[in-house]
Amino acid sequence: MVSDRKNQTLKTIQTILTIPRGEIMVNRQRLAETFKFLAEIDSISREEGVLAARIREILSGMGAETWVDHAGEHVGGNTGNLIAKFTGNVSAPPLLLNAHMDTVEPGRGVTAVLKNGTFTSDGTTILGADDKSAIAILLETLYALKENNLTYGPLEVVFTVCEEIGLLGAKHLDFSLITAAYGFAVDATDTEGIVTRAPSANHLEFEIHGKDAHAGAAPEKGINAIVLAAKAIADLELGRIDEETTCNIGIIEGGIATNIVPNLVRVKGEARSHNEEKLNQITDRIVSSFKRVIEAYKGKASHDELPRVDIRIEKDFSRTDIPSDHSVVALATRAAENLGRKMKTKTSGGGADANVFFEKGILTGVLGTGMRDMHTVRESVNLDDMTRTVELLLEIIRLHATGEA
Ligand SMILES: [Zn+2]
Repeated sequence: MVSDRKNQTLKTIQTILTIPRGEIMVNRQRLAETFKFLAEIDSISREEGVLAARIREILSGMGAETWVDHAGEHVGGNTGNLIAKFTGNVSAPPLLLNAHMDTVEPGRGVTAVLKNGTFTSDGTTILGADDKSAIAILLETLYALKENNLTYGPLEVVFTVCEEIGLLGAKHLDFSLITAAYGFAVDATDTEGIVTRAPSANHLEFEIHGKDAHAGAAPEKGINAIVLAAKAIADLELGRIDEETTCNIGIIEGGIATNIVPNLVRVKGEARSHNEEKLNQITDRIVSSFKRVIEAYKGKASHDELPRVDIRIEKDFSRTDIPSDHSVVALATRAAENLGRKMKTKTSGGGADANVFFEKGILTGVLGTGMRDMHTVRESVNLDDMTRTVELLLEIIRLHATGEA
């Protein structure tokens, strides 16, 4: 009997040892319930108030100190960003953890349906796995840390508003509340990748002012703004400029009637590059093309003020470029290795809150949750993938707290 029990105990221990470290701690049921709970609270950009309040209750219940900053007032929303701090149980540099609370349309009245281990909406709305799968993952990670008495250092958790409408929450975040110098955002798909590079982007707007006239009675008195815009655009090299640079003209609006020479056209576009100098070059090239067309017309016209082009260039977001030997990369890579998984550094073509953090000197790698088909009614996320990311984060936090990576 005794030896039988001994064998049994040995077997149990062997089983535990062969299970990767994270797996035994994640409560999949709770993770799924948390996600469904979050997904079914409306939180369109600028309307994240109810969701923020619910998350704040959960975090306070776990013993975090929480703040809501004043970003809501700056962006015209009903809440600011939610910040929660956990002191941890060992001293280590504070680690930033981030996800965004807002979702896109159609995102009201979401029903999260779990079928064969995958969440989708009922097909009439988005699911909001972007980025509520990340919020659920971060909350489950925190639950697991607490209830398993795991070793962890200080954590600064930032849930932003208005990411989807130009990273507005992050741009207005009260950075005086943040002391972390690096960390992780969870807002991508690949559970075996970390985004360490993302481009800078400029938003470009051109208002071309011509002169209106009756197109039949006195066309020679008019200056056709549509023609000028067309000439400026036709001369441009658009699309992919090189490996790290792209640009696009995406919106053109103008004209009132077929019998009026149009006096106003608005053209909107963007340029992106991983290289700041190239971003400036391509922006200059687009601007020059519009200016050149206006100047060329003026050269032969008698009208003095017109035509004219008003140009507005705004930085949409700054680039991210985390060196491959930085702790953020080492932590993610080592954690994945310890779990028997792969981890590759990735380049993103888009902007995320992480770009804003990078600009503020907080180096933030972006991890994936397995979410797919974001911003469509077919959006989905797999519970296995979410569980994997909780495991990864638990191992990252352990390595960070113990100084092993
Ligand atoms: Zn997102």
